[in-house]
Amino acid sequence: MTFHFPFDNSYAALPETFFARVAPTPVAAPRLVKLNRPLADRLGLDADWLASPEGTAVLAGARVPEGAASIAMAYAGHQFGHFVPQLGDGRAILLGEVIDKDGVRRDIQLKGSGRTPFSRMGDGRAGLGPVLREYIVSEAMAALDVPTTRSLAAVLTGEQVIRDPIQPGAVLTRIASSHIRVGTFQFFAARGDRDAVKALADHVIARHYPDAADAEAPYLALLEGVIARQADLISRWMMIGFIHGVMNTDNCSIAGETIDYGPCAFMDTFDPKTVYSSIDQMGRYAYGNQPPIALWNLTRLAECLVPLLSEDEAKGVEIAQTALGGFAEHFNTAYLARLAAKLGLATVQDGDPQLCQDFTAAMARGRADFTLAFRRLSDAAADPSDLGDVRALFEDTTAFDEWATRWRHRLAAERQDATARQDSMRAVNPIYIPRNHQIEAVIRAAVDRDDFGPFEDLLNVLANPFRELPEFARYAVPPQPHEEVLQTFC
Ligand code: AMP
Ligand code: MG
Ligand code: MG
Repeated sequence: MTFHFPFDNSYAALPETFFARVAPTPVAAPRLVKLNRPLADRLGLDADWLASPEGTAVLAGARVPEGAASIAMAYAGHQFGHFVPQLGDGRAILLGEVIDKDGVRRDIQLKGSGRTPFSRMGDGRAGLGPVLREYIVSEAMAALDVPTTRSLAAVLTGEQVIRDPIQPGAVLTRIASSHIRVGTFQFFAARGDRDAVKALADHVIARHYPDAADAEAPYLALLEGVIARQADLISRWMMIGFIHGVMNTDNCSIAGETIDYGPCAFMDTFDPKTVYSSIDQMGRYAYGNQPPIALWNLTRLAECLVPLLSEDEAKGVEIAQTALGGFAEHFNTAYLARLAAKLGLATVQDGDPQLCQDFTAAMARGRADFTLAFRRLSDAAADPSDLGDVRALFEDTTAFDEWATRWRHRLAAERQDATARQDSMRAVNPIYIPRNHQIEAVIRAAVDRDDFGPFEDLLNVLANPFRELPEFARYAVPPQPHEEVLQTFC
């Protein structure tokens, strides 16, 4: 067999306790339903070969390519606040790493490829519905400029999986700058294995935070780096109404990418308390809770790193606490700067934070559609004297009207011309997001009727989320009451 993946595996060179060597479980009848050709090209992979029966067999886990690491990674994690000392890849296998055309090391992972030593009670498989959801949402996130894992391919296995409803089994090929999580550190820290924590930290520094290697205190620089990236990431989620749904520490990427798309969802009507996930009964991972939860997760990471921060534990704790104290500053700065840009403010003035916050308060009060409120405000930015189309999105306009007067007044203090403002607002306020009811419709067509047309159409729309086109008009429309999806499942 020729060498189709230019693997350059580094994680598999770490100590044997970091993973289990395991091959994917062969499947009955691999069938490619989607290949991300531009992504394949960027990874230096041959898209035509991947689409061939031989390539598809690899993407389905039916054959292991030459040079693959083929490992399931070990990790632990806090699930809904409760520590589980051993989770690990229960249905995923890291084929290996390649260096992409930007010089970045990327993991190629099969998700849904069969049982591993970490499967516990699970079947090691994934259903077509969740695979399509992850494909759609991760690719949409990338187009929305949010750091994320990517989707290279989706294949059917030819087998059924027992879910509700019973559905075709599928495998997603996931690309990540790595699959190392907060939970990976927790796995070793919980076992008191300082050497392993150090080896992992050194690997992560070399791979994701090379500047930290030259810092005076490299492990502190690592912690600060992860804190900064997570703060920035969550600020980006907040700007597009994204709700991850399962922000357990094992789903918190060390590289700062959005990872593990399960019961995730984009909010339609704005309400900070919004929760879609069926397993999140307490609302721990509600939209508005995401920043404090990210800090909670980072605190768990900091605990793992304490032994590396100082020989003296009390001193290490103090250093960690100071670093964690930086989260609020990073997050608030990023959040307000992004919100100001969404509202067309090119300069910074006293009172801007309040003006920004008050827009979200007006949306909440008026039960406005989050995405459309910002987008229609962008459309109106060229002539803010007429805000009729924005106003129409608010059930209760009291707070909005009061806000609009202040906004107009504030814009008058900007030097940027109105057309440039409109353009810059449209560049950060998408018109198309993967709305739940549209994802559900796509899944129903694929699962019930083997029709992947709606899936392709939705992907096509979401590839350019900031450019409004008349032929895509229906994709911008919030759900009708009967179309509304109230719960998502993983
Ligand atoms: P998640 O909630 O997706 O982050 O998954 C939590 C843990 O459950 C991870 O260790 C997964 O690998 C494992 N897991 C989820 N689904 C399955 C499955 N169908 N079979 C085996 N393990 C699974
Ligand atoms: Mg997970
Ligand atoms: Mg998951």
